Amino acid sequence: MYHHVKKLMYTVRVGRPEPRFGNMLLEQFGGANGELAAAMQYSIQGLNCEDAARKDLLMDIGTEELSHLEVVGTLARMHLKPMKKQRSAAEADPLIAIAGGGGVGLCNSMGNPWTADYLKITGELDVDLRSNIAAEARAKIVYERLIDFCDDAGSKDALQFLMTREITHMKAFMAALESLGKDPLQIGHIPPTPDIVNKYFNDSTGVGDDGETDERGPWNEGDGIEYVEAPTQPIATATEQEVTREIQRATGRRTTSTTTQQPRSKRIR
Ligand code: MN
Ligand code: MN
Repeated sequence: MYHHVKKLMYTVRVGRPEPRFGNMLLEQFGGANGELAAAMQYSIQGLNCEDAARKDLLMDIGTEELSHLEVVGTLARMHLKPMKKQRSAAEADPLIAIAGGGGVGLCNSMGNPWTADYLKITGELDVDLRSNIAAEARAKIVYERLIDFCDDAGSKDALQFLMTREITHMKAFMAALESLGKDPLQIGHIPPTPDIVNKYFNDSTGVGDDGETDERGPWNEGDGIEYVEAPTQPIATATEQEVTREIQRATGRRTTSTTTQQPRSKRIR
């Protein structure tokens, strides 16, 4: 159940409206990392969640994001409003001025409509929580850039609040993920293939024009990692007959058998 209270979660004051800045703010209203996307992503994940404690977390934060949508929408509206009547302001974004009357719409800063394609909802709690941690990090950096491009003290104050809350959410999602007690590399129930999972392929080789070369670090050495130098061979090969047999088994049909013994890649890299 949703219930609207006629107050903003955080007071919004704008000294001098700046239509161009209002347009930038729309990225956090109807953009890929914006508040509507966050609200929908967490709330819909919550509907799918069978873990009562973490469902409560998803619904709490999903609902707070709706309040953020209201704050950033109010802020954007204040900056865009002069577009309705002033030609000079309208030139900042003719679409918002002429089609939208200087109001906010569910579009990003480039006028592209909001889409559910922005949402990451997998129905696997730990995978969803990772998506949410990343989503909060993106929202944080977008707010930071908006603050950097803002000259208005009141707007900056509201943006600082919204930016801060994203870190709060990030902390909560991280704690929720950790409290599941799962090995961080255990995703789903099918284990990875043992002799393949620890191979690191040095697939970008040579020396670049600025002297870039192959780098080593904890991502490609130690901890059982096998560094494979410039691999050009398939990991596994199968004969034409083996491939044909597999296809027959999978489709339940017999196809013309062949005796060709040429190896074929089982896996395309
Ligand atoms: Mn938010
Ligand atoms: Mn958030």
